[in-house]
Amino acid sequence: MDTLRIEGGQVLRPDMTVERADVLVDRDDGTILDIGTDLDADASETLDADGCLVMPGLVNAHCHVSMTLLRGYADDKELDAWLREDIWPAEAALTADDIRVGAELGLVEMIRSGTTTFADMYFDVPEIVDAVENAGLRARLGHGSVTIGKDNDDAWDDIEESIEIAREFDGAADGRIRTAVMPHSLTTVGEEYLREAAAEAHEDDIPVHYHANETTDEVDPIVEERDERPLSYAKDLGMLTERDFIAHGVHVDDEEIALLAETGTGVVHCPASNMKLASGMAPVQDMLDAGVTVGIGTDGAASNNDLDMFDEMRDAAMIGKLAADDASAVAAEDVVRMGTAGSAEAIGLPGGALEVGGVADIAVVDLDAPHLTPANDLVSHLAYAARGSDVRHTVCDGQVLMRDREVLTLDQAAVMQRARDAVAALRDRI
Ligand SMILES: [Zn+2]
Repeated sequence: MDTLRIEGGQVLRPDMTVERADVLVDRDDGTILDIGTDLDADASETLDADGCLVMPGLVNAHCHVSMTLLRGYADDKELDAWLREDIWPAEAALTADDIRVGAELGLVEMIRSGTTTFADMYFDVPEIVDAVENAGLRARLGHGSVTIGKDNDDAWDDIEESIEIAREFDGAADGRIRTAVMPHSLTTVGEEYLREAAAEAHEDDIPVHYHANETTDEVDPIVEERDERPLSYAKDLGMLTERDFIAHGVHVDDEEIALLAETGTGVVHCPASNMKLASGMAPVQDMLDAGVTVGIGTDGAASNNDLDMFDEMRDAAMIGKLAADDASAVAAEDVVRMGTAGSAEAIGLPGGALEVGGVADIAVVDLDAPHLTPANDLVSHLAYAARGSDVRHTVCDGQVLMRDREVLTLDQAAVMQRARDAVAALRDRI
């Protein structure tokens, strides 16, 4: 058997306790064989975790990975103006090669900050599929459709593309890649298209993922036009089921929170994006109290501006307390669970917990740093003090993607240079 042993570290268990243990991984099927202190098997490969915390790989549950190319391209604007004046015109000029290098740049950044799994909405998805397959991460990918401003034929083409892409690539990369049908939002896609997209997706047991209740500008028109809240509208469209997941959920009222809990729909909280675009504060503690499945996502790099899930967990804790006006809300354990198991559950992928028989998606965090000293509470450190750059090794599906800070599946320097070149050419075209 081809095995990997992660040895000498402390291990974060699913109940958020920490214990001294080694982790033995079956590299053939990518699962955890054993966790303990007296594992006797000789491993084919070892990773030194002395002085480290071994934790589940982080799960970035909402991203637009190729937007790394637009990092710092336009900042400090309201969502609507930012999209219309800056982001959409730039995205219209992106080539398939740009999407590819933008994705690879994002994947390098994720691997280097301990993220092993992500959900992504973008276009030219075959490029992203191929990049993810080669980089070794786990992902739920989809084509984001927009129908406003399009004639009926173009609108249907865009919806059909999302459905086709989802059908074609579900199960790619030996099952590491799953898909979703991804209409952009309840206001940027018309009713008939949303209804059809959801019906077709669910026919093949494929989830639907979309932005919802992100800003009041997006909620108010639905309430005015339909005399119902957005998530009630989404339920009527068949887009609020156990396999589906929404991004944001900032402006949700109590009835909508109850709907999310009742239907089992996942919510991906994106605190940095919500703060940067002044979208508002999601009532995360209320959602957790109601039993809603809540994960955490970075959103695109243009509204964050990085893909570091440690940053995102800290932001979630901070804004969660402000939103609840309660310092005990969204505690350290809650955000660490949301950034791992909560995200995995929301997007319907395995991972997010270190368990025998579970997938070997693992981040090894080096604790030997001034900002992580003393080790009073390691879960607190993950939530409030650790950074992506503290991750020493990253493992996904039993394969080592980064060893001692060196990314093994992508050529980091070459990817960065190609990204710089792509953006120089993009700026000339716009
Ligand atoms: Zn988004």
